[in-house]
Amino acid sequence: MGNKLKEYLADPFLNTMYRAVREAGSLKSISIDLTHACNIRCVGCYYFDEGMNRFKGSKVKDEAVFDEFVAREKERGTNFVTIVGGEPSLELGRMKKIYDNFWMNVATNGWQRIPCDGFEKMPIGISVWGNHQTDKWLRGRDRLDVFGRALKNYKNDERAFWYYTVVPGRAHEVESVVEECVQNGNRVLFNFYCDLRNLGGEFDYRQGFGHVREAIDRMIERYPDKILMTSYFSHVVTSGKLYDESWGYEVCTSVSPDNPVNSERIRNGKPYNPHFRAYNADFSTTRRCCTGVDRSCDSCFDTWEHFSWVMLNMKKHLGSKQEFTNWLTTMYLFYLINRIVDFDSGIKLLPEIHARVGILSQPEPAEVA
Ligand code: SF4
Ligand code: SF4
Repeated sequence: MGNKLKEYLADPFLNTMYRAVREAGSLKSISIDLTHACNIRCVGCYYFDEGMNRFKGSKVKDEAVFDEFVAREKERGTNFVTIVGGEPSLELGRMKKIYDNFWMNVATNGWQRIPCDGFEKMPIGISVWGNHQTDKWLRGRDRLDVFGRALKNYKNDERAFWYYTVVPGRAHEVESVVEECVQNGNRVLFNFYCDLRNLGGEFDYRQGFGHVREAIDRMIERYPDKILMTSYFSHVVTSGKLYDESWGYEVCTSVSPDNPVNSERIRNGKPYNPHFRAYNADFSTTRRCCTGVDRSCDSCFDTWEHFSWVMLNMKKHLGSKQEFTNWLTTMYLFYLINRIVDFDSGIKLLPEIHARVGILSQPEPAEVA
């Protein structure tokens, strides 16, 4: 492994990324729900669909409980926090405490703007689930244009990137949505709709994300300085394949090791993150993973969890320089999006990152007459 790594790192571009990640150091991450509340109700939100808002300790009013949690996690060595759960912009005070103490990222629906004051460099992932019509139907009860309002809230905001959850049967929307986000002065990372409400048809993940993947590849070609997901990584998430492994609970690296529900998983020999804990909004108990309690892992196409899967499987990617590049660019993009490495210099590497990874979609075979 040492010699191969040395050979690959003789390439100055790879060396720059590798050094930046190594200098930042390893991550000791957790996820946390800051609140059980949300100002909208999306169709197929894992948080409400799994009843996590009804979890008995989920309405903590006493800020001392939260402050003790922050102190405990600092003491435990945590250095990275993903804020999930209900809508975090409703809890700016708690968000500020996380921002001031850890590397972090936050996912917001964008309805209420997170101010710049006090959150100047915060990585903000704004969710959108399709074009205005689709997004309105899935997230705005067919009344609220959440996407439109979030575009206004985050126009030319350097902190913001779109976390675009694409519906499997609506790949044709990708181009116009990305265009709008880019024209708004923002970058885009993709996620994939899980259909937890069993809407079926266009929404059903079982049909696969092949067309979505092709649409993402076209966007990478068109906007190589704006798309925060490589073709390689998009293939891993949408295919659920990483070398000899298939995505699912048995290989998922984002489970809470302290929770007895995962005791067999962490003994199965597959990599996992020993520090990780997915905390509930009581700021003390943990659940199986950030995005689930009982949900079927077959429906899980969550981009952040797949980042972790790739990142913890470096050894699989050492067979060739290209494979190592695929791994390193994934790792680097995670660090970059979350501003763990220097953002201003790192973001300039994005076009070269895409050029190095390449476009992996095969064109659809021509129809035989
Ligand atoms: S905005 Fe987020 S937390 Fe709120 S309902 Fe939608 S997916 Fe759930
Ligand atoms: S739902 Fe996703 S993140 Fe949770 S255990 Fe299953 S595969 Fe892992």
